[in-house]
Amino acid sequence: SGFSSKTKTFHSLRPPLLLPPMSSPLSAASYALSLQHNTEDTAFIDSSTGLHISFSDFRQRVVSLASSIQNTLRLSKNDVAFVLSPNSTHIPILYFSLLSLGVVISPANPLSTESELLRQIKLTKPVIAFATSRNFQKLPKLKHPTVLIDSPEFELMMRNTELKFETVEVNQSDLAAIMYSSGTTGEVKGVKLTQRNFIASIANYHAQRPERDSPAVMLYTVPLFHVFGFHYFLKSVALTETVVVMERFDLKKMLKTVEDFRVTQLVVAPPVVVAMAKGSVTHGYDLSSLEAVGSGGASLGKDVMQAFADKFPKIILFQGYGLTETAGAAFRAGTTEEMLRQGSVGRLLANTEAKIVDPDTGIGLHPGEQGELWIKGPTIMQGYIGDPKNTSETLMPGGWLRTGDLCYIDHHGYLFVVDRLKELIKYKGYQVAPAELEQLLQSHPEIVDAAVIPYPDEEAGQLPMAFVVRRPQSTLDKEQVIDFISKQVAPYKKIRRVAFVSSIPKSPSGKILRKELKRIHLPGSKL
Ligand code: AMP
Repeated sequence: SGFSSKTKTFHSLRPPLLLPPMSSPLSAASYALSLQHNTEDTAFIDSSTGLHISFSDFRQRVVSLASSIQNTLRLSKNDVAFVLSPNSTHIPILYFSLLSLGVVISPANPLSTESELLRQIKLTKPVIAFATSRNFQKLPKLKHPTVLIDSPEFELMMRNTELKFETVEVNQSDLAAIMYSSGTTGEVKGVKLTQRNFIASIANYHAQRPERDSPAVMLYTVPLFHVFGFHYFLKSVALTETVVVMERFDLKKMLKTVEDFRVTQLVVAPPVVVAMAKGSVTHGYDLSSLEAVGSGGASLGKDVMQAFADKFPKIILFQGYGLTETAGAAFRAGTTEEMLRQGSVGRLLANTEAKIVDPDTGIGLHPGEQGELWIKGPTIMQGYIGDPKNTSETLMPGGWLRTGDLCYIDHHGYLFVVDRLKELIKYKGYQVAPAELEQLLQSHPEIVDAAVIPYPDEEAGQLPMAFVVRRPQSTLDKEQVIDFISKQVAPYKKIRRVAFVSSIPKSPSGKILRKELKRIHLPGSKL
């Protein structure tokens, strides 16, 4: 298992990777492009228009856009750029340009409300925003005017070959992106990820790239503003894979896209696997090109995996596991043998170590024993921006990241995720922080106290459920509670179940006792 009983540490079973020396300036974009070969292959296909972009077009647009950003927008290294957009073929071009300039990418979910965006902007202090015409109105004024990604001007910026591009010396220790996560506790935090973090992540995929006769055609339904999509697009460029880009997710459209573009691999969050495995939605689509489906971002039930395997015996279903704080997957199934290990989320990346720690005593545990997963390696974040307290509670001495997940690693080095120790709720793979919803609930004049917990749901994984203590004589009903919240948050954060209770169990220090809450009010449920 790669386990050392002396240090209680699991070492990676993959051959060690030789990463570029830290002293040589290198951006994640230049690194990915340096591994990429055959520029005549197709890099991206826009699923709605069928438009192909070759790797040479892609490279050209990245350089043109970078020189426009340099000469016209005058952004320089370490400036922060806010990006608010659904997936489109323009986003990888924008990301590669910004990365090669050392401009820090601060991507956000376009479904966010104004107040959610404001909180994120306060954390990362961007000087400019790149947004779509549908979303830009939600943004506050920044130092530079907002650039509309879907405008003719942006198109020109990507095709302007007249401006000179001056190479920027980007160090691997420079920040590449700041992504939002609630980590193991309530409030939103900005996860600082460096160029090096992504270089190490790309190197891992490259070292284990599968041998193929024809190029892989990938369809990622996961968003580019989340680390899941962000690191996958980087690795696809490095591996010379074709990526079919879908703007808005729709299950039937996804299946039609697989058929139309002969997609070989789908990368999705668990609800898509559930929908494919159960029900009849896949009937009538030719999915014969599909070799594998990769799932990550939240847990996938064993019964769903079995149902999928029964229905699609020729398609390999595999998982990866990671956090925003690990710049993408930290454990993944890389080889066919690993992909076939049912129920596991894969094995450690190269150059990475793990520990399973008893959450009560802090003692390192053995293979097969359950405890909190700690991870250490070159993909681990630098910390939370402007938040030394949460940083020091998450990054332990020696460089260990506490994941807040209850896991075990078996004797062959495979990771199994058992439960979440942290407060995070995952609705369809999206993060919902209970503390954020609790604060909003408590701001209601008729609510005395409230607590939010995850409620299990087959389709979404988990639903945010609120326990609410009303003021005496209040006639507030469940619908009103749901409405009150849904007006203030992005749709995926909506409260979807409500129960009225007389009190919320708390510890002497005022911490909500979520386990106790579940024990009292939802007895017998497997939460
Ligand atoms: P995020 O930062 O949004 O990527 O969320 C990270 C969290 O998602 C992890 O700490 C886990 O709780 C959960 N997660 C990610 N991948 C998996 C997986 N394959 N199985 C179970 N939980 C997962």
